Amino acid sequence: MHHITIIVGGGQAGAEVATSLRQQGYKGRVLLVGEEPYLPYRRPPLSKTYLAGETGAEGLLIKPAATYEKAGTELLVPLKVQSVDRAAHRILLSDGREQHYDKLVLATGGRPRRLTLPGAGASNILYLRTLDDIDAIRKEFRPDRRLVIVGGGYIGLEIASVAIKHGLNVTVLESAPRVLARVTSPKMSAFYERVHREAGVDLRTNVKLQGFEQVADRAVAALLDDGTRIDLDFVVAGIGLLPNVELAEAAGLEVTDGIVVDKYARSSDPDILAAGDCANHPSAWAGRRLRLESVPNAMEQARTVAATICGKLQPYNSVPWFWSDQYDLKLQMVGLCGGYDEVVVRGRPAENSFCMFYLRGGVIIAAETVNRSSEFMVAKRLVAQGVQARAEDLSDEEQPLLAMVAA
Ligand code: NAP
Repeated sequence: MHHITIIVGGGQAGAEVATSLRQQGYKGRVLLVGEEPYLPYRRPPLSKTYLAGETGAEGLLIKPAATYEKAGTELLVPLKVQSVDRAAHRILLSDGREQHYDKLVLATGGRPRRLTLPGAGASNILYLRTLDDIDAIRKEFRPDRRLVIVGGGYIGLEIASVAIKHGLNVTVLESAPRVLARVTSPKMSAFYERVHREAGVDLRTNVKLQGFEQVADRAVAALLDDGTRIDLDFVVAGIGLLPNVELAEAAGLEVTDGIVVDKYARSSDPDILAAGDCANHPSAWAGRRLRLESVPNAMEQARTVAATICGKLQPYNSVPWFWSDQYDLKLQMVGLCGGYDEVVVRGRPAENSFCMFYLRGGVIIAAETVNRSSEFMVAKRLVAQGVQARAEDLSDEEQPLLAMVAA
């Protein structure tokens, strides 16, 4: 009998496990179960070029159907895995079928956190995770309409930038004192706040949203605790992600802010592995556990999963990195900037071309670049190596960053 690997989840991590298993020589059967009625597709363009109408649905596919056929990957979509019987090494599918596995990969991702305020059930309060979600948003996306965005995170700000270009009236309501608070420093938040306001976004921070006024099934106004009322045509809420851990929990796996895995991506049951947004892994680089919500993490962790299944134990040890496109700004970030004691700017924020380095005790722990992709490639190495640097060298554009990379 063939060895069988079942992958639960058809997102970036799941698709990469499937591809990577074959690349690493896996000869068994590979089944990929996905809830959405599509081949695995890339999510990052949804809030960017897809929303802007610059990329079609075909352009989102991670691989064409023929690639899965050639690789002998069986795509079971749209189907859900209802439960896992670990003792019997069997899953139950939503169509009633049971399927044996030798290795099970949980790449279950996450889902948008939902608003629970009065009126939040209105039909024009929308969220973004899937292609169907963004198609629903696109239906509402017409010039001169009033869009209220709840949450000044990546989703909120990327959608705001596309919406402004399309002539919508955009208000962003952020509960924190600044946008992107989860992922960046006050300096970078201030940069993005300025850019959005100059583009015409009505961006409000420290906002306490109380609920929505509803007429029939639609919200018509957002109500703030200070009595402010903001009339609107539709709402997009991007208030964070909840990892999909219910299947793992029900199966009795260890779950603490994500499915707990070891450095080889194995859960507390060594025949069940996990990767991507749903997985909580030990990071040698950070010296603590992390659950990361990013495509690079999903891809790289998926490769670790595949290697482990193929019996090649290679610890997962990559430095977190992210990117975001807003207006004509390409933001790239590496490392985690929490806990820095010094920020160094290199370049010219006023000209939308600069880097920010975050140091702790003189060591570079994170870097962010705006429209400086080649310096970002170097910054990734500086952060990975934990290079010791002086502020005056980092800020001096006469000095190439490359010279600071350890040999
Ligand atoms: P996010 O980046 O976590 O941002 C959510 C923001 O909403 C935070 O600033 C949060 O502030 C705020 N917020 C939370 N509750 C709120 C409330 N009730 N009212 C107003 N604001 C509230 O999450 P996201 O933007 O929803 O994105 C979801 C997922 O998609 C994340 O995994 C994200 O990384 C991913 N994504 C990534 C990209 C990219 O990397 N370019 C693009 C799109 C989506 P607090 O921190 O104070 O809670």
